[in-house]
Amino acid sequence: MGCHEKPHAHYVYLDSQRVLHASQGCKAVAKIHNAQPVSPIAINYLQSEMLREVCSQCVDEKTLFSLQKIAEENDSLQRNGNYIITVNGVQRKIKAEKFNENIDAFVDQMPDATIRMRDRYGKEHDIKLADISNAYENNYEYVTK
Ligand SMILES: [Zn+2]
Repeated sequence: MGCHEKPHAHYVYLDSQRVLHASQGCKAVAKIHNAQPVSPIAINYLQSEMLREVCSQCVDEKTLFSLQKIAEENDSLQRNGNYIITVNGVQRKIKAEKFNENIDAFVDQMPDATIRMRDRYGKEHDIKLADISNAYENNYEYVTK
């Protein structure tokens, strides 16, 4: 990545201390937060919980305001939308809320079923329920329909 490259407007960046940056090359990542380089998050998959800590060096108030609006819309899709699960080869939709409330039961009863998730670059994968916590750790989000 060249040092003159402008930050891509459709991505924000989480550093290893979970502080959110608008700029991938932000100097505050290392100097202030003593963090490791950042992970890009496609802005369409930004969630409100990622905005708990925001860098004051590269995120101004106007940017923060628009990020909050986008995150709120994404949150509401996560709450009210449907997830796509595949059980014994049959794909079906399930209410996101219902799944989230009973997630342990789903994982226990159908560890080999899969749920559609997307990685932080926006690519979709069918993830085994048994592997879901691993997927969370890698910043995967549920695909909602
Ligand atoms: Zn920053």
